[in-house]
Amino acid sequence: MKAVVYREPFSVQVEDVPDARLEDPTDVVVKITTSCICGSDLHMYEGRTGAEPGIVFGHENMGIVEEVGSGVARIRKGDRVVMPFNVACGFCKNCLAGKTGFCLTVNKGFAGGAYGYVSMGPYRGGQADYLRVPFADFNCLKLPPGQEHEDDFALLADIFPTGYHAAELAQVSPGETVCVFGAGPVGLMAAYSSMLRGASEVFVVDRQPDRLRLVEQMGATPIDYTKSDAVTQIKNHTGGEGTDKGIDAVGYQATAPEGEEQPAIVLNSLIDAVRPTGALGVVGLYVPSDPGGPSEAARNGQLLFNTGRFFEKGLRMGTGQANVKAYNRQLRDMIIAGRATPSFVVSHRVPLEQAPDAYRRFDNREEGWTKVLLTPGG
Ligand code: NAD
Ligand code: ZN
Repeated sequence: MKAVVYREPFSVQVEDVPDARLEDPTDVVVKITTSCICGSDLHMYEGRTGAEPGIVFGHENMGIVEEVGSGVARIRKGDRVVMPFNVACGFCKNCLAGKTGFCLTVNKGFAGGAYGYVSMGPYRGGQADYLRVPFADFNCLKLPPGQEHEDDFALLADIFPTGYHAAELAQVSPGETVCVFGAGPVGLMAAYSSMLRGASEVFVVDRQPDRLRLVEQMGATPIDYTKSDAVTQIKNHTGGEGTDKGIDAVGYQATAPEGEEQPAIVLNSLIDAVRPTGALGVVGLYVPSDPGGPSEAARNGQLLFNTGRFFEKGLRMGTGQANVKAYNRQLRDMIIAGRATPSFVVSHRVPLEQAPDAYRRFDNREEGWTKVLLTPGG
């Protein structure tokens, strides 16, 4: 079968790889209809993670069940399903508590499992014709048959629930003001989720005009940090107080300013932008080690975080991989009911064969390349 294979920094290829197959009785094999490219893939693509050449990328997958293991009870051949990016067992301490992003069975490290992701288990990605899904009864979310809402449902694998998770970590409540740093697909989904939860005003910070336009179209307030200091702009909009809640949808990729070794992590801007006793939701990814990081501290995942200011303001913070399973059934039903249409972030759908070009354009943040969906088989 064909798959998107990582070769070296800034290079993926579409290659023939061995077919996905049942390995355990609790597996299914899914024929992929959509697999999305994610900002998280770029950490590997840009060579920040030490990913080995040969990894098949793709953790945002949906499709039709093709083969069913003998130990699978609930999922049938022909079911249309979307898979949370987390691979989870459903029965460990963390899964039982709904923390499927930290499954203790599939990956005994710090974070749980994921498809096609370095250090998150041996699971091959779904930017391919077929995908093996372990613990399939737990890891498949059934969808209505047909082709309706394909783009909306594909976003249930990661960015819609991740955006919602960010709002949940920050405990965004009705009538609150929220600032979101990053207007990538995840930041846009965090802003959208905050609005679904009843936020009165949402500010979204980025530098890309096309993404800031989407912010405006969604009914949130765009903040261009290249025009003037983002925190000052947010304070000016909120009578000097700052927002009630804040979300980091950028993570480690904020670059080191000229002449400085440390990336200017947006976490510190959030600490300044949120009012005392507010809360922060951090879903932007901070890599625990970056072999090519700008300083020894950065290479060890230790970035300068303003602990003093954080304490002084009595802030709270939640972090980590999204527990997709905790939200995606509810978000699916909002899509079906017509109460949520997350696919407004989708800018492109291209055949799998064009993945190398799509990666390059998405990574370069080319004008208009917000969220790319891949279609295998043409
Ligand atoms: P993306 O790279 O497309 O978006 C990031 C955006 O941040 C870009 O638009 C960029 O212009 C903007 N940006 C960069 N520096 C900034 C700064 N200093 N201030 C404000 N904006 C800035 O990626 P994405 O797909 O939206 O993902 C965003 C982050 O979320 C990534 O780190 C990704 O790994 C992470 N992520 C986490 C989870 C999770 O479960 N926690 C899931 C998916 C993605
Ligand atoms: Zn993703």
